[in-house]
Amino acid sequence: MPSLQADAAVAYAQDMAENDVAVYKTLLESTKAIPWKIDWSTMQFAYVGPQIEELLGWEQGSWLTVEDWATRMHPDDRDQVVNFCVSQSKAGVDHEADYRALTKDGGYVWIRDVVHVVRKENGEVDSLVGFMFDISERKKTEEELIRLQLELERLSLTDGLTGISNRRMFDQRLETEWNDARRSRKPLSLIILDIDYFKQYNDFYGHVGGDECLRSLAGVLKTVARRPRDVVARFGGEEFTLLLPETDEVMARKLAQECAQGIAGLQIPHKNSSASPFLTASIGVETTIPDGAATPREFVEEVDRMLYAAKRNGRNRIEAARL
Ligand code: GH3
Ligand code: MG
Ligand code: MG
Repeated sequence: MPSLQADAAVAYAQDMAENDVAVYKTLLESTKAIPWKIDWSTMQFAYVGPQIEELLGWEQGSWLTVEDWATRMHPDDRDQVVNFCVSQSKAGVDHEADYRALTKDGGYVWIRDVVHVVRKENGEVDSLVGFMFDISERKKTEEELIRLQLELERLSLTDGLTGISNRRMFDQRLETEWNDARRSRKPLSLIILDIDYFKQYNDFYGHVGGDECLRSLAGVLKTVARRPRDVVARFGGEEFTLLLPETDEVMARKLAQECAQGIAGLQIPHKNSSASPFLTASIGVETTIPDGAATPREFVEEVDRMLYAAKRNGRNRIEAARL
């Protein structure tokens, strides 16, 4: 009888073990995460969950070796991800990697692969086991967040009314270009422009009409400063700046004249201006090669003095210290 009892105990234990395996298998294959195992010595898949077919379209049986894994990856991700995973695995370090997995119909799905390195008793790597998570939704949210962040950044540097750079952007770029001009010893020019009798314009034509003027003016100034590094900014209410890197005095003066001509070309009637029957601006222009002691702020103040000299001297004119 004791032997019968022992047999029953063994059979029971086997049943339980099989039962356990079935439970684990059911658990593994019913999760959204896709389980897998790679045998390190052969670099072959020992197992991959059947869920993979639903996610990527490739049949469960088509995942044979790590080559299948590597080739079914976006070419831009492949080298980096494969090298990273191999080096981490060799070092016996658990790791995770995000990449775009190729689907059977030619699309891509963002995957996060979380990998555990299983070692033998002697410390050598035995196998890799892991889970693939579908993180497409998360990636989409991340990308959207990055897009929104960039948009926010752009908006925070743009003038809402005219769409050109705002004062904040101007200050940032002035700092950068100032330092660059100091290093390169190349001339940096600045034009500051202020509309003449704009208060009267608003009073006569209305604030909405005034806004329209500011937009038209910004449009003209953009056509004058065309180089990629040029900055056209709304400096304040009806004051605009043109920051012109690698631009000498002669060129700066020419561009200031183009600004005046462009504004005149708009032929915006301004009945209450003593300077002209049309909208005009006063313009200050200066060029510098920054040296040790000078600051960007002093440079702006200097050009501002030129602008106010233009106002004092009758408006609708250009003043430059070094003409
Ligand atoms: P000056 O020839 O000396 O420059 O005289 P001005 O009237 O242009 O100068 P002032 O600084 O006295 O007035 C500027 C006016 O610009 C006052 C304000 O109503 C107007 N302004 C400032 N920002 C805006 C804006 O965003 N839209 C409109 N429509 N007007 C603005
Ligand atoms: Mg003003
Ligand atoms: Mg003005």
